[in-house]
Amino acid sequence: MSDILTQIKPKIASIISEDSFKTWIEPLSFIDLKDKSCFIGVPNAFFREWVSENFGSIISTLLKDALKEDVKIEYVLKKDEKAGEKKRVVVIKQSNYSQFNPKYSFENFVVGSSNQFANAACLAVSTNPGKTYNPLFIYGGVGLGKTHLLNAIGNFLLNHGTINPERICYITAETFTNELINSIRYEKMEDFRNRFRKMDILLIDDIQFIAGKERTQAEFFHTFNTLYDNMKQIVVTSDKFPRDIENFEERLKSRFEWGLVADIQSPDIETKVAILNKKAEQEKINLPLDVAFFIATNSEDSIRSLEGTLIRVGAYASLNNTPITSDLVKDTMGHIIKEKNKEITLDMIIKDVCSQFSVTLSDIKSNKRIKSIMIPRQVAMYLSRKLTDSSLVSIGEKFGGKDHATVLHSIKKIESEINVKKEFKSTVEKIIQRLKSR
Ligand code: ADP
Ligand code: MG
Repeated sequence: MSDILTQIKPKIASIISEDSFKTWIEPLSFIDLKDKSCFIGVPNAFFREWVSENFGSIISTLLKDALKEDVKIEYVLKKDEKAGEKKRVVVIKQSNYSQFNPKYSFENFVVGSSNQFANAACLAVSTNPGKTYNPLFIYGGVGLGKTHLLNAIGNFLLNHGTINPERICYITAETFTNELINSIRYEKMEDFRNRFRKMDILLIDDIQFIAGKERTQAEFFHTFNTLYDNMKQIVVTSDKFPRDIENFEERLKSRFEWGLVADIQSPDIETKVAILNKKAEQEKINLPLDVAFFIATNSEDSIRSLEGTLIRVGAYASLNNTPITSDLVKDTMGHIIKEKNKEITLDMIIKDVCSQFSVTLSDIKSNKRIKSIMIPRQVAMYLSRKLTDSSLVSIGEKFGGKDHATVLHSIKKIESEINVKKEFKSTVEKIIQRLKSR
């Protein structure tokens, strides 16, 4: 029982990666075991934080197994390291390394057709940072998993021990802006710049926030260039495709397109059900499959609101000691049920046509005259006229400022195509069906 740590080290090695083991566990030394505390020597304070945060629970579980009782872990800084140690603490405080939400992992991310591309791109970046897709630009609507994926990249890299935690930074564009403002105010621009430019990986969330903020964009531009030139990985999320962010510098938009742009679409019913099932399992909520389908069919697209519904229904059922049924969902959550037969809007039409023909929003609004883009654009204009009360002029405006004659021409064109091409006709009818049954 003298050196309990040496006894459990092989077990730890079998659980975590070899790299992590060598870096973080091997250097730990056993000091003492007394008063229900296990004293473990660590080289420095940074080590202590890192080990306790990431491996603390593994170590204490294994200690408990071996000793058959709960012991507290006390990390002790090794004396000979102490002098150098002080310096490091200061450095850490300045660098303020990023925290990642452990729940937002790849394992917890349910993959469906709507997000599989983005998920694969993030995985590729995690296994090969700076080398495959740089920058990686992820865009998609609210609550569809962008922040989750950014955190998953961070968690992956840290758990695999492939990155120095001080050299990975997750920051929202909003915080980036606030810190920039403070740095200007307190004349700390040098620090601000250095902080980001020494990163190996920069994960920046919700970049659309800096739209219209010239100084922030300029600063970000230089950070971007420095990192990019040094082959450091940059991952950016946004609620829009780069071209569609308004009041955004051209040079930044074009840089975002240098690497890979991946979108996250609204989830289909099956993916929603899979997500609900997974969350229910995590939260220990007993969710029958038919209720999962009911919630999935009737809720909005945002996965955040899907989760919210599940948690509320679960709480209600547990408080009232009743099983979860579709009726319970209907009774308690009336307001979340999506309005049926909602009016069809131009945006809905454009979105559907884009996904049907796999073109982007900016393509459909552009003036590009390639057939693969022109036809979806004309279909969308045709449907806009057919399914809404919009005038030719307002439809033209919606499609990047085309005049009414162009719109009319498009409509005529599609009308005649439908009459001669059977397959084309059924594609258009499929879109109409889908829009009407939303
Ligand atoms: P966004 O940043 O795009 O607005 P978030 O990443 O914050 O969205 O996601 C909102 C919530 O939905 C989070 O709790 C997240 O864990 C969850 N979520 C999103 N996509 C998935 C998915 N594919 N699988 C599981 N949970 C998901
Ligand atoms: Mg987010």
